[in-house]
Amino acid sequence: MSIRTATAIIDFQALAHNYKVIKSYAPNSKVLAVLKANAYGHGLERIAKALPQADGFGVARLDEAIALRKAGIIQPIILLEGFFSPDELTLLSEYNLETIIHSKEQLEAINNAHLDSAIKVWLKIDTGMHRLGISPKDFSTFLQALEQSKNVQKYITLISHLGCADDLNDKTTSVQLSIFKQLASSTYECSLANSAGICAWPEAHFDWVRPGLMLYGVSPMLVQSAQQKALQPVMTLKSSLISIRRISKGDSVGYGSSWTSAKDTYIGVIAIGYGDGYPRHAENGTPIYINGRIVPLIGRVSMDMITVDLGEGTAGKIKDNVGDEATLWGAELPIEQIAKCATTIPYELLCNISRRVHITIKK
Ligand SMILES: *Cc1c(COP(=O)(O)O)cnc(C)c1O
Repeated sequence: MSIRTATAIIDFQALAHNYKVIKSYAPNSKVLAVLKANAYGHGLERIAKALPQADGFGVARLDEAIALRKAGIIQPIILLEGFFSPDELTLLSEYNLETIIHSKEQLEAINNAHLDSAIKVWLKIDTGMHRLGISPKDFSTFLQALEQSKNVQKYITLISHLGCADDLNDKTTSVQLSIFKQLASSTYECSLANSAGICAWPEAHFDWVRPGLMLYGVSPMLVQSAQQKALQPVMTLKSSLISIRRISKGDSVGYGSSWTSAKDTYIGVIAIGYGDGYPRHAENGTPIYINGRIVPLIGRVSMDMITVDLGEGTAGKIKDNVGDEATLWGAELPIEQIAKCATTIPYELLCNISRRVHITIKK
């Protein structure tokens, strides 16, 4: 008996395919592949190395940026939230990392720093999401200050972020676009679009697009088009049946006896749980793919196990065996569906993949 527990299979061909889909949407833009949060759970260095065609990489923490440089990544690497303390500036300069500037505190810090070489900066403008970024009315003051700073490289990039681009009917994106366009200039490269902006708002493409989610093969839109359906999932999450047992009508399964069977049936136990990153809030009926069919999750998700209803079978027999593989999401089962059943978003499911999940590369 040899049972494989929770395993994430990473498909580099799917990654390359999704990159091409991005280029087909935005053929004239450079691509800043977004690798924050361990490349959305796929492995930071692994994904960076598999994307030599990317024009640059975006991360959220200095540690991630330095790890990429140490792994031999030579493309531009940008800190998407900027730096958090003045002493990080020395490291930015040393490792040739780029940073967003979104606040006057950061501007002051960069002006006061003593650096061996100037840093490339991206000036972040708040065009309406009201999270990070300088107000448009402060734009020229900031730009001038950065242009005059000895610690800042020539040719600043202008950047803003879309808050509602996943919803085609939302009016916010057009407002953000028009504010950004007024500030955009031919002197400076500009960047606005995340995955949803890439898919649905061609006017938002500018010089650099910044795909995260769609790179990993997940649709960023609330309502998908055929082209977004052409994205291929990079991660397939699998585990195996470790037990099959017959229960009777009226028997309850799992913690809190929260599910009771309406019929005599076979229950399968799969070796994956919230300790692996499978969402604890996945509801009864969440689909799981086993032996060519979908079966429903039943009962509560435990730390290390989940239970599924394998059905009554035919003539009292089922085709499943202990050791058989189950797919939780990926190639056979869109992660978007699982996210809905767990009242969350695919981003969170991917980021939550825990350290004990084995990683293998699809051959
Ligand atoms: C995370 C992030 C992205 C990527 O967003 P997706 O929706 O995953 O494409 C792009 N830009 C910035 C600034 C981000 O923080």
